Amino acid sequence: MSLATLKSPALPFPFELTRSRRKTLVVYVKGGKVEVRCPLRASNEWILSFLKGASQWIQKQLEVQRHKQRERLVITDNRFVPFLGKPRLVQVILSTRQKVVLRDEYLYFFVRENTSKNLERIFNNWLLRQAKEYMATQTIKYARLLGVEPKLKDVVFRRTKTKWGHCCQDGTIQYNWLAMMAPPEVINYLIAHETSHLRHLNHSAQFWNTVAQLCPNYKELRHWLGENGHRFWTGEGE
Ligand SMILES: [Zn+2]
Repeated sequence: MSLATLKSPALPFPFELTRSRRKTLVVYVKGGKVEVRCPLRASNEWILSFLKGASQWIQKQLEVQRHKQRERLVITDNRFVPFLGKPRLVQVILSTRQKVVLRDEYLYFFVRENTSKNLERIFNNWLLRQAKEYMATQTIKYARLLGVEPKLKDVVFRRTKTKWGHCCQDGTIQYNWLAMMAPPEVINYLIAHETSHLRHLNHSAQFWNTVAQLCPNYKELRHWLGENGHRFWTGEGE
């Protein structure tokens, strides 16, 4: 396997090339980078002509990714951070005791040091506590409505990068607490989704019918989460 970052005057973007024992050429656009994987003996002409053909599509992907990157969450004094779908203005106050206090549209950060790392850390702690309170309670409520409460083993929280929620075979439901930034109906959809897995551990038509019992407009809410979820992440490479 060999890796190189290449530029061509014929292309408006650089790309990383990995040659390996594979039969086809494939292009990935992720993290604002173009990655090409191709067979060991693929000619440069072939690779370039392929990329030229896909150039419009690649540029569109790069633009979408750059746009999403700009929309990422920044926690700093006098900026808005969403909580339960509403923007809350961050107000940093230096204090010996660290805590976050929500008062209507203001989110007060009492902190020992005003660094983005510290603000992020205490915001996550606070958000996790909100998630434990709201999402665990709502999960039990939905499980009761579906008559599957005995199957619910536990509700746990993890900051997973790829999923907002997960239901394990043993009946443990896992959520990403960053979802607490979304509007309540979106959070409820997520909870309805995972709780419905206690009845159907798949994504069959029966499963979606169960979700619809709890959340009739689930399609719209699911779409919202897919389009906006990146706004709840800070930093790079996440
Ligand atoms: Zn699912």
